[in-house]
Parts: sequence; C-alpha cells; structure tokens
Amino acid sequence: MSLSQPHPRPFRVCAVSDQLEDTWTVELAPADGKRVVAAPGQFNMLYAFGAGEAPISVSRIHADVLAHTIRAVGRVTRGLRQLVVGDTVGLRGPFGVGWPVETMSGGDVVVVAGGLGIAPLRPVLDTVARERSRFGRVQLFYGTRDRASLLFQDDLKTWTQQNIEVNVIVDRGSPDWRGPVGFVTQPLEAATINRSATALICGPEVMMRFAAGTLLRKGLNPEHLHLSIERNMECGTGQCGHCQLGPYLVCRDGPVFGYDAVSDCLAIREL
Ligand SMILES: Cc1cc2nc3c(=O)[nH]c(=O)nc-3n(C[C@H](O)[C@H](O)[C@H](O)COP(=O)(O)OP(=O)(O)OC[C@H]3O[C@@H](n4cnc5c(N)ncnc54)[C@H](O)[C@@H]3O)c2cc1C
Repeated sequence: MSLSQPHPRPFRVCAVSDQLEDTWTVELAPADGKRVVAAPGQFNMLYAFGAGEAPISVSRIHADVLAHTIRAVGRVTRGLRQLVVGDTVGLRGPFGVGWPVETMSGGDVVVVAGGLGIAPLRPVLDTVARERSRFGRVQLFYGTRDRASLLFQDDLKTWTQQNIEVNVIVDRGSPDWRGPVGFVTQPLEAATINRSATALICGPEVMMRFAAGTLLRKGLNPEHLHLSIERNMECGTGQCGHCQLGPYLVCRDGPVFGYDAVSDCLAIREL
C-alpha cells in the first residue's frame, strides 16, 4: 500500500444478518470514535485480517453505521464471512463517486437492479423513500435468479408503502412465485418511462447493457442514465491502475459513471 493511501480504520461489527445462503449483510460502526460520512453508491475497502482487502459497496447508511451486503466468492469475501458481532474489521473509505441523488431531486426516477446490484442502490431507494416529496414518479425494476435469491424483501415492502413502484421479476419460476418470470428488461420494456427521468442501473454488465438499450430506445436522455461499474481493484484510491476502464479508473472516477462515458467500454472485462 502506498504511503499516501489511508490506513484501514478499525470498525466494530454491530450486526450480521444472513440474506441468502452465500450472501449476508454486516453493519459496521467506527471503533475510533471519529465520524464517517458516506454517500449512496460509494464503496469501502474491507480488510479481512490474514486474507486481504475487497471493495464492497455501502448498502445502507444509518448515522455512523454502514451496512455492506457481501457475497462469498473467494478468499477475502470468505474471510469477511467469519465476522461476528463485536469483532473489529479494517476499513478504508468511503471511496468513489456515488449516485447523483441531488440532481435527481424534483424529477422522476427509474432504478434498475440485477441480483446483488440492488445493494449499492439500496441507499438511494432509502433516501427516496425517506424524502419522498422531493421526487416525482419512482419506479424500481429488480430482476433476480429466482424467488429464493430475492434480497431485501422487507425493504421492498417499505418502499412500496412509500409510493415507489416496485416491479420484481425472476429468471426462473417456482411453485411459491406468483410474479412474472423473465429478464428485467421485460417489465422495463412494457413500462411507461418519462424521457426526462433519471435512470440508475446496477447489476451484471450484460444486464446493464440491455437495460440501458431499452431505456434509450424508449427515449430516455443518455445524459440522465447512470451505471455502477465493477472492476478488480487494489488500492481504491486511483494510484495502482488496476481498475482502469478506458481513460478512467473505476475507484476514483466511478464506480458510478454517466452512460456516455462508459458505453464503449461496457463489454470489456479488464484492460
Ligand atoms: C466498486 C465495487 C463495489 C463492489 N461491491 C460489492 C458488494 O457490495 N458486495 C459484494 O459481494 N461484492 C462487491 N464487489 C465485488 C467484490 O469486491 C469481489 O467479489 C471481491 O473483491 C472478490 O474478492 P475475493 O478475494 O473474495 O475473491 P477472488 O478470489 O478475488 O475472486 C473470486 C472470483 O470473483 C471474480 N472477481 C473478483 N473481483 C471482482 C470484481 N470486482 N468484479 C467482477 N469479478 C470479480 C474473480 O475474477 C474470481 O473469478 C464490488 C466490487 C467493486 C469494484
């Protein structure tokens, strides 16, 4: 780690809750008594002692408590899986450019989430639900593998109560699922979308490409379209170049980008 990078700060694990078999949420509060300020869409580098660091989005911001919803895929995330309430974890951040919450104010909002991509969008939906009168029509389109993979089910109910139009679709049906089956682009295609709405998309890149294409075909202004991009990351502070995406560094210039900035690079995994 370069000298000019911040050192990990100790954060205390306040709560751990399972979401799915391989996905859980860990809530962290600063153990050093200093404040932490995060914006929706930003991420932290979480340090699993003995395993390493991984960038993880903030999935809820509540005063000084930051939630992170993590899927165990490899060494670091499996290390983070071992955390229990009372443990201390190293955290660097919050880093990056988040969702354009302030410029969304006063207009309609379209949120498109695929799978775990709903995690970085949850703080925006929380903000919209809390400050509902600041926004016009708000539509959420959330696609997931199947009924069992649905994240944040209580939040979906809360957001619906706050007059957010929640559309959930699953790739694979099951006897306990009465909703639509297919890809998230289907309800998006069928919906009436205000051309001047702000759209926020997060999920697998193939889903983001198709969802962006659908919205643009429906006349959405590309300047109002924002995507959150993932790339393998090392430093988190724009110094190592690991997460380069064309002329950008995802950790410093993103992870949230305007569509025009990244549309050409969307299909490229690593440069
Ligand atoms: C800005 C940002 C925000 C993220 N937010 C979250 C989050 O909220 N929750 C969450 O669970 N994960 C999130 N990730 C992904 C997470 O950082 C990786 O899953 C993690 O770094 C994997 O580390 P590992 O040591 O556990 O697995 P590794 O052993 O490093 O990797 C396991 C597998 O995952 C692939 N992989 C690793 N990192 C990425 C990546 N960034 N993008 C695509 N594939 C990758 C590897 O190629 C390998 O196939 C985010 C990534 C970024 C860049």
